[in-house]
Amino acid sequence: MAVQERLEKALAAGRLSHAYLLVGGEAGEKLRTVRQIAAALNCPHRDGGRACGRCPSCRQMEAGCHPDYHLIEPRGASIKIDLVRKLERELRLKAFQGGAQVVVFHPAETLTPEAANCLLKILEEPPAGVYFFLLAAQPALLLPTVVSRCQVLSYGRGRAGEEGGRSLWEEVLVSELGRLMTSVLPRLEKEEDILSVLDGLMLACREQLVWELTREEGLLLEGGPLPPHPAGISLSPAVLWRCYRHLRRIRAVLEQNANRRLALEVLLLNLHREIHSA
Ligand SMILES: [Zn+2]
Repeated sequence: MAVQERLEKALAAGRLSHAYLLVGGEAGEKLRTVRQIAAALNCPHRDGGRACGRCPSCRQMEAGCHPDYHLIEPRGASIKIDLVRKLERELRLKAFQGGAQVVVFHPAETLTPEAANCLLKILEEPPAGVYFFLLAAQPALLLPTVVSRCQVLSYGRGRAGEEGGRSLWEEVLVSELGRLMTSVLPRLEKEEDILSVLDGLMLACREQLVWELTREEGLLLEGGPLPPHPAGISLSPAVLWRCYRHLRRIRAVLEQNANRRLALEVLLLNLHREIHSA
């Protein structure tokens, strides 16, 4: 079922979650979906999960100037904590006015860690009548704790480099250091789009972390359940979180065109150390 249809059905049935993470697809498509759901939420003539498209509220929504629609976008390169705090105050002021507030973070992966933690606090005790939509092209860059608070809806598969993420991650888990350096490293070095490959690894690592923490298939982006761990490998959430941070750091380093071989060597050494210290 398409993402929009799923949301409309949930709305019609009165089961709309307070937080969604929309991944994949094009940004414009995701924004359209959210605007239509926001319109339906506030339309007095709603039919099932659909807005009428003609009333003043629907027109305002279409023009992008509805007072209950909050589109949070990066200022400069990131969405910083002051924007999230300002939003929190605004939501508190509007809480008594009755309209359904729709908050959109676009793209959500530009939230700084401080802003994401602030959002996490809000999502942990979601205010009544507020619906959050996090739009992400690279969900692997999101804080796993934030993702675990959202229902994940996917517009189809990610980029090519990300697809092998799970099998590559499993290979990293079971490989001895020698094999990592003689087989995995040379392959990674030759990758055309190393950032996508690292995104795939981060996604796989994140999936395993979320799975270890929750055992809930619904929270897995790729659909669950995860295959059982390769023989003898069981990692604690703390180890997985450290692995995730190594991946994220090296991704950032490579984005700055650092020495690729050196960065990947450091990454594999660190991952190996974390995995086998457990
Ligand atoms: Zn309407």
